[in-house]
Formats: sequence, C-alpha cells, structure tokens
Amino acid sequence: MTDAARPTVADAIRAASDRLFETSETARLDAELIMAHVLGIARSDMLLRAMRDEAPAEFGALVDRRARCEPVAHILGHQEFYGREFLVTPDTLIPRGDSEVLVEAALELKRDAERVLDLGTGSGALLLSVVAETQAEGVGTDRSPAALAVAHDNADRLGIEDRVRFHLLDWREEGWADDLGRFDLILCNPPYVEEAAQLDRDVRAFEPHSALFAGPEGLDDYRIIIPQLRNLMTDRGVAILEIGHEQSGAVSEIARAAGFEVALRRDLANRPRALILT
Ligand code: GLN
Repeated sequence: MTDAARPTVADAIRAASDRLFETSETARLDAELIMAHVLGIARSDMLLRAMRDEAPAEFGALVDRRARCEPVAHILGHQEFYGREFLVTPDTLIPRGDSEVLVEAALELKRDAERVLDLGTGSGALLLSVVAETQAEGVGTDRSPAALAVAHDNADRLGIEDRVRFHLLDWREEGWADDLGRFDLILCNPPYVEEAAQLDRDVRAFEPHSALFAGPEGLDDYRIIIPQLRNLMTDRGVAILEIGHEQSGAVSEIARAAGFEVALRRDLANRPRALILT
C-alpha cells in the first residue's frame, strides 16, 4: 500500500478471512481472534471499533502464520476452555471444546470430590477447571516437564496453585501408580489417535505427537491405565476418560474386563466422547 490509507480493521479481517478459507474451517473467527489479540482488546469490543479504526501492521504477520496452518491458540498463546483462559504452548495439546464434556460430567457426578487426579494433564485444562469450580485438591501428572511448567503457570494464573500439585510421571514405567494415593475423581484424556490416522495439518504439524498417538489402534494407553485405576480410586470413586468417537466399544471392553461399570457421554457434535467408570 503506498498513498492509500491502511485498511480498516473490518477490511483487514475480511481480507484475512478470505485468505484463511483454505487453511481453516473457522477462517473468519480465526481472523477476528488474531485481530483482537493484536489490538489487545476483547473480540466483542473490537467488532464495535472495526468499522472506523485502521488495521495494525502486525496483523498481517500473524495471519501469515495461520495461513501456514499454525493453530490460532499457538499464535495467541492461549485457548479458552470451560469459561477460563489457559496458556498453551507447542508442548501441550490445545484444549478442545469437546473435552468440556469431561468437566461437565465431573461437576455433575463428583462436585463434592476432595481429591482429584488428572493423568496426562498437559496444560492442566481438565484438572484446573474442576478444581476451580470445587473445593477439591488436585494432582496432575504428565511425562513432559515442559507441559507441567505450563500447567503450573495456569494454576498460578487462576489463583489455585495452593490446591494443586504436579508430578512428572510416565505410565509406561513400572510402578507408576504406586505412590499417588487414592482419589474420588480421576480424569484422563490420554493419547488415543491411531498411528496411521489422517489428522488435520494444523494438528499433525504443530501439536505434540506424544499427546496424540497411541499405537496401531489408538488403545495402547487405555490398556496400561485402566487396569490400574481401581488402585487409585476411593470406594465411591469415579473415573472419567476421554475417548476417540469410534472407540467407545473397544475402551468399554477394556474397562469391563477390569471390573468397571461403564457409562457413555457425548460431545458437542453428539459423538461418543467420554466413558464414566465406576
Ligand atoms: N481429540 C484430539 C484430536 O482429535 C485427540 C486427543 C487425544 O489423543 N487425546 O486431535
């Protein structure tokens, strides 16, 4: 652009959204979130200002990153989950709206939980959402020190760091469940993607494979975790596991073989997404 004035915020969002259409199913929303981030204001305030204000120069560079498939959550550095903002980095899975069903089920079934365990906590989104909504104390585990650092930061930001602890722990190692104690509520969103699965490019290229892939059928981690859950639960404890939407049969079978009763919860698109084990 030479003599002409810079485009308005509204024009820039429109152009970016046209451009991101090939990369993203939420092109317009992505453009709006990136613009709100650059302006340092809420998206709702931005929409009111959009018609008259000029677009900031930085916007273009961030839209370039999105056009190369980088997730919006990485560009902004955070993702909203169950009404709160969570820091995310390439070391953590980006919290999905579909996973909110686990929090919902937890609060419905175990709002009175005293101790909550989250296996593979990542950014801490599941654990911290439940702890923030209850009086519970929480323990989060992960095999990634970098993920645990993010979870710590999120606990600090939410002001609940005094009620949560984090342990570096890899459930592929013998005796992993021995020293954790017992919990009224266990949450777990393990890796469950089949090795050969086609994932969206933004997921495959930018999210941690250690949080996604779980062997040829995507079941490796359930086979390790589920048989240990009884030793981690109090008598009236409940475990809530996220599953891939085609895995309810296979994971239920693993759970029944371990002596659990199993109930199913569905996600935002009405697909099977969580199993409740009692
Ligand atoms: N739901 C995620 C995806 O579809 C996978 C999460 C996981 O493996 N725990 O990319």
